[in-house]
Amino acid sequence: MKIRAITATLCALGLSMTAVGAVPEHFQPRAKELLADSIELQENEHQLNVIYFVGNDREPLADYERRISELLLHLQQFYGKEMARNGMGARSFGLVREKNGNVKIHVVRGKKPHTEYSYGSGHNACLEEVNAYLAAEPGRRTGQHIFVIMPTFYDKEYNDLNPGGVPFYGLGINCFALDYAHFDIKHLGQDTHEGRLLTKWYGGFAHELGHGLNLPHNLGTVSDNAKYGTALMGAGNYTFGRKPTYLTLASCRILAHSETFAPKGTTTKFYTREEAPAVTTAAFKRCGDTLELYLETESDVVNANAYIQDPPYVVNRDYDAVPFACTMSKNDKGQTTATLSIPLSELGALKNVKDGELALDVLLQTHEGSRFRWRVPFELNKIPAEGSIDMGKPVFWRGY
Ligand code: ZN
Repeated sequence: MKIRAITATLCALGLSMTAVGAVPEHFQPRAKELLADSIELQENEHQLNVIYFVGNDREPLADYERRISELLLHLQQFYGKEMARNGMGARSFGLVREKNGNVKIHVVRGKKPHTEYSYGSGHNACLEEVNAYLAAEPGRRTGQHIFVIMPTFYDKEYNDLNPGGVPFYGLGINCFALDYAHFDIKHLGQDTHEGRLLTKWYGGFAHELGHGLNLPHNLGTVSDNAKYGTALMGAGNYTFGRKPTYLTLASCRILAHSETFAPKGTTTKFYTREEAPAVTTAAFKRCGDTLELYLETESDVVNANAYIQDPPYVVNRDYDAVPFACTMSKNDKGQTTATLSIPLSELGALKNVKDGELALDVLLQTHEGSRFRWRVPFELNKIPAEGSIDMGKPVFWRGY
């Protein structure tokens, strides 16, 4: 919801206002301070479904509505400011708001005890019940993306000072994070146990939500890391709130075509495409200290990112992938062309990998948000100055 549009309503409810919107009166001073420089965000067509999920033997933790609302609204501003900085406009993921300014958080009570919804495989049963809940009433579901928050386990291993036990990861358009008693924005940035704990779990909350909004891992170029800190989708979950943390341009390009970022009035049916885009030309060559990628694809492609990474090329070993965003244009055949430069100096330690073996991951995104990835392993010292390495026939998989 556009913040300015609800100002009058919130005013009538006796809530305080900032220049661009309102911060609910019942929010804590630290939240008010952090939200004081909020930017006005574009209104969204779809909103994230925020779920607080408990087993049938548990209750939500005290004051969860205010605490999670403060954390989510601050995070919505972080994403919005990073989108604006990267030239995508003041856009963020949509959230439904309650009349008192809180974020709408659906409490879903599981059919089974909380231990049945554990880290290992509890997400399956949880998602099944959450999807049934969202479908049970027309209009309840406000978009395809689901963010599930579960309270920590309390057992021999886990408690409020060492939370865990529950799912904590991204899974396609769904993601999971956790709640615990000290999960409160008032601790943000403090050099205390609660402050460090908050960076870990709020940073993780922000990072997993990134996955749930379609983002893969990436660590940023040497230049961007020097300017902006640590990329959220790399190791930023360990710096968020304590040290400069940012979203890369490659991440923001993906978010620009993520459903919950779609501006009000968007009629696109998101994530309906199954077939990978056709690539008619692909060239990857080296000009001095720069690698150059050129692609010609069908016109439905709106975005092409390239990620350079070192082996092994598996999920969760790709935190250090260095992202590059293409310059997109159209040629006279109506195709999308993508041109991209990768200065070796931007690869940091990656350019020194043993035997020079690296991989180029090309991520193509179509206008309705689907991502398709194509991996091309290569040896840095064997990239020709003219022509191209053999990139083979594109073999795509649905991008994470
Ligand atoms: Zn991750």
